Amino acid sequence: MAKFVYDFTEGNKDLKDLLGGKGANLAEMTNLGLPVPPGFTITTEACRHYLEHGGFPDGLEDEVDRHLAELERTMGKRLGQSDDPLLVSVRSGAKFSMPGMMETVLNVGLNDESVHGLAAQAGDERFAWDSYRRLVQMFGGTVLGIDGELFEDAVEDAKKARGTKDDVDLTAEDFKDLVERFKGIVREQAGREFPTDPREQMDLAVRAVFDSWNADRAILYRRQERIPVDLGTAVNICSMVFGNLGMDSGTGVAFTRDPASGQQGIYGDYLQNAQGEDVVAGIRNTVPLTELERLDRTSYDQLLQIMEKLENHYLDMCDIEFTIERGKLWMLQTRVGKRTAAAAFRIACQLLDQGLIDADEAARRVKGDQLAQLMFPRFTSTIDGITKLTRGMNASPGAAVGKVVFTSERAVELAERGEDVILVRRETNPDDLAGMMAAQGVLTSRGGKTSHAAVVARGMGKTCVCGAEELDVDVKAGRVTAPDGTTVTEGDVISIDGSSGDVFLGEVPVEDSPVVRYFEGGLTAADGDDLVKAVDRLMRHADERAALAVRANADNPEDSARARRFGARGIGLCRTEHMFLGDRRRLVETLILAEDDAGRRAALDDLEPLQRSDFEGIFEAMDGQPVTIRLIDPPLHEFLPDLTELSVKVALAGDGADPRDRSLLEAVNRLHEQNPMLGLRGVRLGLVIPGLFGMQVRAIAEAAAARRAAGGDPRPEIMIPLVGAVQELEAVRDEAREILAAVAAETGVDVPALIGTMIELPRAALTAGQIAEAAEFFSFGTNDLTQTTWGFSRDDVEAAFFSRYLELGIFGVSPFETLDRDGVGRLVRIAAQEGRRARPGLKLGICGEHGGDPDSVHFCHEVGLDYVSCSPFRVPVARLEAGRAAI
Ligand code: ADP
Ligand code: MG
Ligand code: MG
Repeated sequence: MAKFVYDFTEGNKDLKDLLGGKGANLAEMTNLGLPVPPGFTITTEACRHYLEHGGFPDGLEDEVDRHLAELERTMGKRLGQSDDPLLVSVRSGAKFSMPGMMETVLNVGLNDESVHGLAAQAGDERFAWDSYRRLVQMFGGTVLGIDGELFEDAVEDAKKARGTKDDVDLTAEDFKDLVERFKGIVREQAGREFPTDPREQMDLAVRAVFDSWNADRAILYRRQERIPVDLGTAVNICSMVFGNLGMDSGTGVAFTRDPASGQQGIYGDYLQNAQGEDVVAGIRNTVPLTELERLDRTSYDQLLQIMEKLENHYLDMCDIEFTIERGKLWMLQTRVGKRTAAAAFRIACQLLDQGLIDADEAARRVKGDQLAQLMFPRFTSTIDGITKLTRGMNASPGAAVGKVVFTSERAVELAERGEDVILVRRETNPDDLAGMMAAQGVLTSRGGKTSHAAVVARGMGKTCVCGAEELDVDVKAGRVTAPDGTTVTEGDVISIDGSSGDVFLGEVPVEDSPVVRYFEGGLTAADGDDLVKAVDRLMRHADERAALAVRANADNPEDSARARRFGARGIGLCRTEHMFLGDRRRLVETLILAEDDAGRRAALDDLEPLQRSDFEGIFEAMDGQPVTIRLIDPPLHEFLPDLTELSVKVALAGDGADPRDRSLLEAVNRLHEQNPMLGLRGVRLGLVIPGLFGMQVRAIAEAAAARRAAGGDPRPEIMIPLVGAVQELEAVRDEAREILAAVAAETGVDVPALIGTMIELPRAALTAGQIAEAAEFFSFGTNDLTQTTWGFSRDDVEAAFFSRYLELGIFGVSPFETLDRDGVGRLVRIAAQEGRRARPGLKLGICGEHGGDPDSVHFCHEVGLDYVSCSPFRVPVARLEAGRAAI
C-alpha cells in the first residue's frame, strides 16, 4: 500500500516530486541536524488522488493519525490540548516553488479553551490572543474563502480606536475583541461557526491546501512559469514556533548571496515580534538582516553558520525562512533561491571559483532566457533634465518606462491596447499577478527585497523597484506623491530602474546593455565588470561543448554582420522576398502583369542586378561561412495592392482610371486565393512562373562569382521552399544546375553551391528518403511544419483560441513558440533519419522561430541536427543552449 505520510526525519531533498520542495527540504534540514520544528508531510500523491476523486485516499486518515500521535509524543502535548496546546501550521508546498500562490494556515489547534492554556504557558495574554485571531483570520480566508479585506478592515478599525498605526500597539484586549469580531465575520460570510475542534481545523486546512492547487492565481502562475498542471501539492504539518512572543522574538527571510546582483554578503529582512507572512506582506517595515547582529548576536551567528552549511550542502545560493522564539533560532524553510539573470551568471562563476562546482555544472546553472534578459537595454547613465522622484530598492533589474496604473485590472486593460504601463501599488499580493504580467515594471512603496512584488517580479524577469517608502501611494485617489510634492496620476509616464532602484518622472532614454556591447565587440571581457566576465567565461565553455552550430536568419548585410559578431556561423535563412519590397514592388508588379515571355524576361532582367548586389553584400559580410538563400516563397499577390483599396480607387476614378490600375485589379482578382498559405507559393511559384527562380539562381551565382573574383570566399546554399514531392525539387534543381554551369562558363569562375530544400510539409518529412536523393541539405521550416501538422493557421489561431487551449492544458505552451516534440518533432526525427539513410552526411538544420527557443534547441541537439538558425539577437542565447544541451 502506498505511503502517504512522511515524517520530516524520513524524507530528503531528492523527494521533491513526492514531498514538494518545502517538505523535501524541511526533511533535508532535519537530517542535517538543523533546528527544524518537528512535523510531517502528506504527499503530492495524496493530493492528486484528492483532486481526482474529491476525497482522501484510503488509509490516509489512519496514517495522519499515527504521525500526529507520534508528533504529540515528541512534543509532549496534544494538538489543541486545553492547558498546553500543541499548535501546528498546515503548509502547502509543491514540487516547484510558487511563492504566495497557495495557502498556509498557522496556529491550528487554538480555540476558546486552548487560547488560555497558551497564554498561561507563555505567560503572555496578548501573544495568545494575537495568535488566535491570526488563526481565525487565516482559516477564514484560506479554508472558508472569505474576503481577506473584511478581516483587515477590522484590524484597521481596532488600530484607529487605539490611535495607532502599528499592530505592535494593540493589546490583549484588542485581540480578544478581534477574535469575537472575526468569528462574527465567519458566521456571516460562511454561514457556519468557526470550528473549535483542533483535529477538524487541521483536516479542513489540509483539504484547503489541496484545493488551493486549483486556485485561479495558482493556475495563472503555473501557465506563466510553465509548471505542469497535474503535479498537485504536498501538505506540511509543522509544529509551531512563535516569532510573536515579544521583542526577543521575530521572523525573517535570508539569502546566502544577493539574489539581485549575486554579490556575496548578508542579505535578508527581519521583523521583531512578528509571525509568518508579516515579513513579506509589508505590514510593518522590516529591518535589514545585518541589524539582527545587534538585536540577537547568538542567533545571528548561528544563522550565518547555518547559511554557510546550507550553501556547502546544496552547492548553490539558498533562501531561508527562519523564526526566533525568545532567543532560540528555528529554521522553517530553505530552497535553492530564485535569482535574477545577472545573479545567476555571477553566482555560477563564484561557485566555480570556489571549487564547489565544475564548468559544466556552472553552465547548467544559467539559462538562455536569462542571457536574453541581460541583453535588454538599460537607461543611459547621464540623464539631464529628468526629475528623479525617489530611490527604492533594486528588486529586479531592467529599465522600464510606461504609464502609471494603480490596479491590476487597469494594467491589463491598457496593455491589451498596446500601451506600456508601470503597475504602482503600496504592496502587491497574489491577486495582482495578471497586472504584474501585463506591466513593463512594478513599483511598490512598501516591502523589502523579499516582498511578494520582488519575488514574483524576479521570477518573471520583470523590472521591479520595491519599498520606495518616500512615495505616498494612494490607490483609491489614483495618485502618488513624491517627497518634493510632485504628484503623479494615472497615465503619467514614469521610468523605473530595477538595477539601481531609481524612479524618474517622464521617459528616460535607454542604451545597450554591457553584455550586448561585449557581444558586439565594443567591450572586451577584460574591460567589462564581473558580469561581463562571467558571461564571457560561460559562453566560451558552451561553445566548446556545443555539437550544434548556430546560424542566423538574416537578409541584409547589416544583420549578417551583426549576427557574425554575435557568433553566428553562417546564415541559415536568407529570405529573398524582403528584397522585392519597397521601390522594387513596381518591378514585381510589372512581372506579374507581363503578358508574354518578352515582357516577363524584361521585368526579370530589371530585377536581377538588384538581387545580385543584395547577395554580394551578404556574401561579403558572411565571407567563408555558409549562406542559405531561400528562393521566393510567399504568394505573389502579397506584392500587389490590397483588393478593396484598389477596387475603390478604380471605381472612384471611373472612366479616367489609370490603365495600369485596371490591369492590376484584374491581376489581383485573378491571383486571389481562398487559402493563400496553401496556395500558389514556394516551389509552386518556381514551376508556374517561368524564369523567376532562374533569375534568382543567376543572381546568386553571379554574386558569388564576383565575390570570388574579388578574393572572397562565398559559400552559397540554394534552398527550395515548400517542397512536398521529390519531383518538384528535381525540376527546379535541374534548371538551377544548368544556370550555375552557364554562369561558371561565362565568368570563368566556378563557385560550388549546394542545392537543398526546406522540409516544412508533412509529406516532405514522410518521403524524406526520396527527397534526400535530390537534396544536398534539409532545413526544417518548423513554422510551416507546425501549421501544416496541426492544421493551425499561424496568423489566426493564436488570437482566436490559444488562450483557451492553454487554459484547458491542451498544451502548456504554444507549439509555435516551443517545438511540439510528440507531433512535429516526430516528423523531424523521421525526416532526419530517412534523409541521412538515403544520403549519409546530409546536412540538417532548422530555420523556424524555434531555432532560438531554448527547449527547441535541446530537441535539435537530441535529433542530431547540424545547426539551428535564429534571429541575430537570439544567436548568443542559442549558442549557450547548444552548449548546455551537449553537457
Ligand atoms: P509560503 O510557501 O507562502 O512561504 P509557508 O508555508 O512557508 O508559505 O508559510 C507562510 C509563513 O508562515 C512563512 O513565513 C513561514 O515561515 C511561516 N510559518 C510556517 N510554518 C510555521 C511554523 N510552524 N512556525 C512558525 N512560522 C511558520
Ligand atoms: Mg515560505
Ligand atoms: Mg515556410
